[in-house]
Amino acid sequence: SFASLLQPVSSCLQLEQIAKHFGDFTALHQIDLQVEEGEFICFLGPSGCGKTTLLRAIAGLEPQSAGRMLQQGRDITHLPPEQRDFGIVFQSYALFPNLSVFDNIAYGLRNQRQPKARIQQRVQELLELIGLEAAVHQFPAQLSGGQQQRVALARALATEPSLLLLDEPLSALDACVRVHLRQQLKKLQRDLGVTTIMVTHDQEEALTLADRIVVMNQGCIEQIGTPQEIYQRPANAFVASFVGRMNLLTVEAISDRAIRLGEQQMDLNRAHGVPVGEQACLAIRPEAIQLQPPTDQVAYRLQARVNEVEFLGAFVRLHLVLTQHQAELQFDLPLGVGCTFQPQTRLDLYWPQDQLQVFAGEAR
Ligand code: ATP
Repeated sequence: SFASLLQPVSSCLQLEQIAKHFGDFTALHQIDLQVEEGEFICFLGPSGCGKTTLLRAIAGLEPQSAGRMLQQGRDITHLPPEQRDFGIVFQSYALFPNLSVFDNIAYGLRNQRQPKARIQQRVQELLELIGLEAAVHQFPAQLSGGQQQRVALARALATEPSLLLLDEPLSALDACVRVHLRQQLKKLQRDLGVTTIMVTHDQEEALTLADRIVVMNQGCIEQIGTPQEIYQRPANAFVASFVGRMNLLTVEAISDRAIRLGEQQMDLNRAHGVPVGEQACLAIRPEAIQLQPPTDQVAYRLQARVNEVEFLGAFVRLHLVLTQHQAELQFDLPLGVGCTFQPQTRLDLYWPQDQLQVFAGEAR
C-alpha cells in the first residue's frame, strides 16, 4: 500500500541500550546494535567479554536487565523465546540423541503442526542442502561431529526463521572440518539470505564469514565494522591487537599529528587525537614494515637487531629489537628473503607513514 512506502524500513534486529547484570557484575554495558536484513554478523571477543550473554539475550534465553529490543520493528523485549522468530545452533551439537536425523530436523515443524507431506518435503530439501540425504535414518551417535553440526544447522533452519543465531557452532570440530564447514555455512547463508548472528572468539572465522564484525571487550562494543575496516582501521589499541597481529609501541604525542618514539620524531598523515604531552600507542602491522624505502611515500627508517627467526611455512617471522629504543617487534617476510636472516643480524626497517596508527593509552 501507499502508506507502507512512507514508513521507514525497519532493521531485522535493533538493540537499544541493552544491559545485563549478574548480581553486582555487569556482563553487558548499554549495547546498541542494528542488524540489517540478510547480514552475517559476528560477535568477536576474548573469553568472558559477554558474547554469549548478548546472543542469549537476543534469543530471550537470558532476560536483559535494561534496554529495548526490536525484531522487524516489533518490540520483543519481553517476549519469551518461543514467541521470537529465530533458529539457534550451539557449540555442543545438542541434537536429540534418541531421534533420527529426520526426526531431529522435523522437530520444529511438528511442533508447528505442519502437514505430514509438507514436513517430508521440507526435511528432504534441508537434507539436500546440507548434503546428508544418505544419513536420514541414522542417529546422532552414528554421525561425525561435522555431520552432527550440519544436522543442527538444518534443524535450526527448518521453520524458516528470520534470524539464525549461532553460538560457536564450529569450535568443537577439528581444524580441517571446521574450515570446510565454515565455507559451507557461508554459502548456505548467502544462498538462503538468512540474517545470521554468530558468536566466535576466532578472529579468522569472523574475518572470513562476517559482513560486519562486532568486536566486544568487557561487556562493551569496541568497534562495529566490515572485516576490512576492523583490520585496516581499528578504532583503538584493543581492536588493533585483538584482530590480526600488531606491533604496539609506547610513544609520546608532541603535536596534533606528530609523535616521538625515543629520540625519533614521526609525522602522521592524520590527526591522532591524543593530547600533546601524553603517552600514546603507535601501531604497525608486521607485514607493513619494509626492508627498502618505498618510492611513493614518506617512510621512517629504524634500526633493529634480529632476536629470533621463526619459520612459519609460507613466511618467516623475525622477532626484532629496535636498537635505539629497546622495543620489541615482529616483522613478517616471504620465505626466500626471511631465511637469509640470522639472530644478531642488524637491519634497517622502513615504516611507511600511511601504515602508522596512533591510539590513546600506552602499549601493553
Ligand atoms: P566465552 O567465549 O568464554 O564463552 P563470552 O564472551 O561468551 O565468553 P559470556 O559467557 O557472555 O562470555 O560471559 C560474560 C561474563 O558474564 C563472564 O564474566 C561470565 O563469568 C559472566 N556470566 C555469564 N553467565 C553468568 C551467570 N549466569 N551468573 C553469573 N555470571 C555470569
